[in-house]
Amino acid sequence: MTSVATRLALLTSPPAAASAAANATGSVPAGTGSCSSALAEQPWDFPAPLAEGYGPGASQDDVVPPGSSAQPAIPQRYRDASPEQLDAMIRAAKETLGERVVVMGHFYQRDEIVAHADFIGDSFQLAQQAKAHPEAEAIVFCGVHFMAETADILSTPEQSVILPNPAAGCSMADMADEESVEECWAELMDTLGPHALAADGSVLTDGDGEPLASVVPVTYMNSSAALKAFCGRNGGIVCTSSNAATVLEWAFARGQRVLFFPDQHLGRNTAKAMGVPLERMPLWNPRKPLGGNSPDQLRDSRVILWHGFCSVHRRFTVAQIEQARAEHPGCTVVVHPECPMEVVDAADSAGSTDHIRKAVAAAEPGQTFAIGTEINMVNRLAAQHPEHTIFCLDPVICPCSTMYRIHPGYLAWVLEELVAGRVVNQVSVSRDVAQEASVALERMLAAVPRA
Ligand code: SF4
Repeated sequence: MTSVATRLALLTSPPAAASAAANATGSVPAGTGSCSSALAEQPWDFPAPLAEGYGPGASQDDVVPPGSSAQPAIPQRYRDASPEQLDAMIRAAKETLGERVVVMGHFYQRDEIVAHADFIGDSFQLAQQAKAHPEAEAIVFCGVHFMAETADILSTPEQSVILPNPAAGCSMADMADEESVEECWAELMDTLGPHALAADGSVLTDGDGEPLASVVPVTYMNSSAALKAFCGRNGGIVCTSSNAATVLEWAFARGQRVLFFPDQHLGRNTAKAMGVPLERMPLWNPRKPLGGNSPDQLRDSRVILWHGFCSVHRRFTVAQIEQARAEHPGCTVVVHPECPMEVVDAADSAGSTDHIRKAVAAAEPGQTFAIGTEINMVNRLAAQHPEHTIFCLDPVICPCSTMYRIHPGYLAWVLEELVAGRVVNQVSVSRDVAQEASVALERMLAAVPRA
C-alpha cells in the first residue's frame, strides 16, 4: 500500500482564499481548499497549536481555540529515530508491558500507528473497548482528544488514559465550546421558555403527562467532555454517526425541538432522512444574536444546527462524485454523513466508518468503490480488499491534520515512559464533569431504534 506520506499532494490555494471559499453550510466548492505536503515532512514542527491554524492537513485553515493543549518537545532520540527504530522501540515496550497496557487505534490513524493497535475502530467502538479492559493499567489512545476523554469517562478510576500527543485535538469538536453553547442555551430559554408550547400557549406533555422540553440538546460524540456533561444536566444525550437517527427519535419523544452540535452536516443529513424539512433546520452561528435567526424561525424549528463541520469531510463535492461515475461507470459511492448534504444525496449510501467498512466487506468481488472519508481509512480498505477497486473521492490526498499528530515517535515515548514507571500525557476528566457526561452517554446506550 502506498503510504500517505508519499502520496500527499500539494494543493496551491492559499489558506485565506480557502477559508473564504467555504460557504455558509460549511462545504467547499469544487477545486478549492488547502492541504500541504509539509505535514508529512516534519511532524515535530506541529506538536503544539500553531498561531492560528492546526497546521498542514485538512483542517489547517480552522482556528485553534485559545488554551488548547500543547505538546512540549520530546527527547531528541525519538525525533532522530528511523521508522524502523521507532517500530522496534514500540514493539519492545509493548512486550515488556504486556497486559498492563492496551493501545487503541482509530480508523483514521496512519498505518505505522495502526500496526501497533490492540484494537482498531471508530471513536465509540474504541471507547467500548476501553470499558471492556479494566485489567489494563494504561490505555494509550491513538486518536484525538475527545476520544481519550470518553475513554477516561468509561474506564475505571484506577486506569490512566494517555494521548500520545495532547495537541491532537479535533477541529470540529473545537467549533463548539462550553461557553458558546451555554450562551446559546440561555438565549433559547429566554426565547422559547423551558417547556414545549401548543399554539394556544398551553404546555405540551408526553404520554405520561410530563411536560415536553422546548429544546433537547444532542451532542455528537465528537465534542468535549464538558459538552457531554452539558447534555447530561440539561436532559440531553450523545450520538454517534451510527445511531444519530435513533438518538433524534429519543430526543423528539422528549422535546419539541433539538439543538444539535457541533456537526451541522450529521444533524442535517440525519434529520432530513427522517423527514424534517430543511426550512425547519436553522443554522446557529454563535457569533450572532439568536444565532442569526429570528424568534419566529426558532419557534418554528425542529432541529437547530450548530455551525460546525469536519474539515476532512467537507472537502467532498458532488463534482467529485460525477467525475468518479464518469470515469468508473457502475461504481458505488459511499460517503460519511459528516459530508455536506448535497454529497450525501448524490452518493449511493452514507454511513459511519463501520457502515463503510461493512459495505465494502459485504460486496461481491470485482466491485468499484468511490469512498468519501479520511484517506488513511480508504487506503487501508483498498489494501484489505484487493478483490475490489477502491479509491478516495477526493483526488488530493489530505489527511486529518489532528489525527496525523500521533506520530510513532510520540507513541514510542509514552510507552517507554510507562516501562520506566511514569505516566505522561494523561487525559483526566474531572469527577463532576465525568458524572454528568456519563448520564448523557448512558442515555445513548439505552436508546433503542423504534421497532
Ligand atoms: S476527521 Fe474530522 S471529525 Fe474526525 S478528528 Fe479529524 S477533524 Fe475531527
